[in-house]
Amino acid sequence: MLAAGLKPGDEVITTPITFCATINAIIHTGAKPVLVDVEPDTMNIDPVQIQAKINHKTRAILPVHFAGRPCNMDALCDIVQQHDLKLIEDCAHAIETEYKGQKAGTFGDFGCFSFYVTKNIVTGEGGMVMSRSEEDAARIKILALHGMSKDAWKRFGDEGYKHYKVVECGFKYNMMDLQAAIGIHQLQRVEPYWQRRQEIWQTYNEAFADLPIELPPEVEAETRHAYHLYTVMVDEEKAGISRDGFLNAMTAENIGVGVHYLGIPEHPYYQQTFDWKPEDYPNAMRIGRQTVSLPLSAKLTDEDVEDVILAVKKIIKHG
Ligand SMILES: *Cc1c(COP(=O)(O)O)cnc(C)c1O
Repeated sequence: MLAAGLKPGDEVITTPITFCATINAIIHTGAKPVLVDVEPDTMNIDPVQIQAKINHKTRAILPVHFAGRPCNMDALCDIVQQHDLKLIEDCAHAIETEYKGQKAGTFGDFGCFSFYVTKNIVTGEGGMVMSRSEEDAARIKILALHGMSKDAWKRFGDEGYKHYKVVECGFKYNMMDLQAAIGIHQLQRVEPYWQRRQEIWQTYNEAFADLPIELPPEVEAETRHAYHLYTVMVDEEKAGISRDGFLNAMTAENIGVGVHYLGIPEHPYYQQTFDWKPEDYPNAMRIGRQTVSLPLSAKLTDEDVEDVILAVKKIIKHG
């Protein structure tokens, strides 16, 4: 956000269906997050509604490729060009994501990846920023290591001690070599893990086809889904059980479940700070109140997948 040049008073347009980190990263620069509701089916930011939120303070658009499904990048890139905005992609779910043959994270000025333990590859903690320009990449490196001039990374190298200069007030946001050593070996697992998650995804789709719950929409043509999350929607009127009832029942069956995500305007901090109301983002509100993420990991055995299916079918009766 800082490398994108964001300053207090600027506005950044983003989605209410995301992890709080997306929003907090904007706030930490002093800029103001501005939410635009998601599409009801893809759960990604709705480009059609962005136009109405753009004003003279708008500096950037921050889309999230939710669950690994690419956003409508043609539409987003058009808007960004038209209004001369920065584009920062949150690719935390999107290591494998592609849109019309192009990798997520390469459309905008920055693509931001997470290697936190819940993601498709992990380094314990850590992540990666890709940038279009060398200059931006250099700024990120400086900001990530106390604001020391860029050679500071090599100051204890084999070629002897290198002087550094502090050129701005930076942070301690560097990844450790230890973490990188884990991460570099995870890279070769990206494809086989993705294959296995796709298989599980399809098994779930077939198993749940007749149940009165909403399944993830088909993967759009000319895109690649990262299959990071498998989310179903539990509408109490149709399913005969509330979303939270379903979460509890699954837990009682010893199946781990998650919620991605309660809409951002549901949280007290954002309500108090920005006066956001869930009702103003109806699609996000419905998704946040109905969605459940089922186990989706390459490490699930066929028996694990069968356990999940049996539990869901026990709890949700045919319509
Ligand atoms: C996990 C996640 C983040 C934060 O990543 P960290 O590496 O934990 O900081 C940001 N955005 C989304 C959508 C995420 O899922």
